[in-house]
Amino acid sequence: MTKKERFAFVIDYFEHHAPNAETELIYDNPYQLLVAVILSAQCTDKRVNMTTPAIFAQYPDVEALSRATFDDLFPLIKSISYPNNKTKHLIGMARMVMEDFHGEIPSTVPELVKLPGVGRKTANVITSVVYQQPNMAVDTHVFRVSARLGLTTNAKTPLQTEQQLLQYIPEEKVHIAHHWLILHGRYICLARSPKCGECGLRPVCKYYKTLVKTGM
Ligand code: SF4
Repeated sequence: MTKKERFAFVIDYFEHHAPNAETELIYDNPYQLLVAVILSAQCTDKRVNMTTPAIFAQYPDVEALSRATFDDLFPLIKSISYPNNKTKHLIGMARMVMEDFHGEIPSTVPELVKLPGVGRKTANVITSVVYQQPNMAVDTHVFRVSARLGLTTNAKTPLQTEQQLLQYIPEEKVHIAHHWLILHGRYICLARSPKCGECGLRPVCKYYKTLVKTGM
């Protein structure tokens, strides 16, 4: 099977089984999504969704957040991972958006990565989800699932995974493909015990082929 055929199978499978895949983070506007994605580093979307309503009630927009103090914001974030850093990042992000971007959440990856707490993955999520740009955010799920399926070959870094995926996924499907791979990794292709018995991608999965060969 060629790589092109493998991609075609995977895309066709997800188009039939997850035609409406989207982020599980709850948000109403770019500001809220940016806050949620910054908070989601090393944390589950479920936990973030439990945390953000109180933050958005107290800080309804980026201007309000830019005026927050560490001691005001920290109690709202303390139940999630890395609360110290995330509190600093959120306030720093809001202040930079106000000072350098006229209060508008930037819409390009090079601008977004200037903000505290925003790396390439977060910038790709924002530009893809909010602005529908063909950018592939690679998190641990996308990295693992792509490698197991054989969509990537010897990718050592998220950037290599991103570049290999973008070679084969049609531009108009990059946005949804990100969610397909994340959700598949979150619910089926689990890190420690992938549920291969429930997975419709077995016919093309390199990892599964190895399991069968070795009798595991
Ligand atoms: S067959 Fe197994 S390893 Fe392959 S994608 Fe499906 S769950 Fe993951």
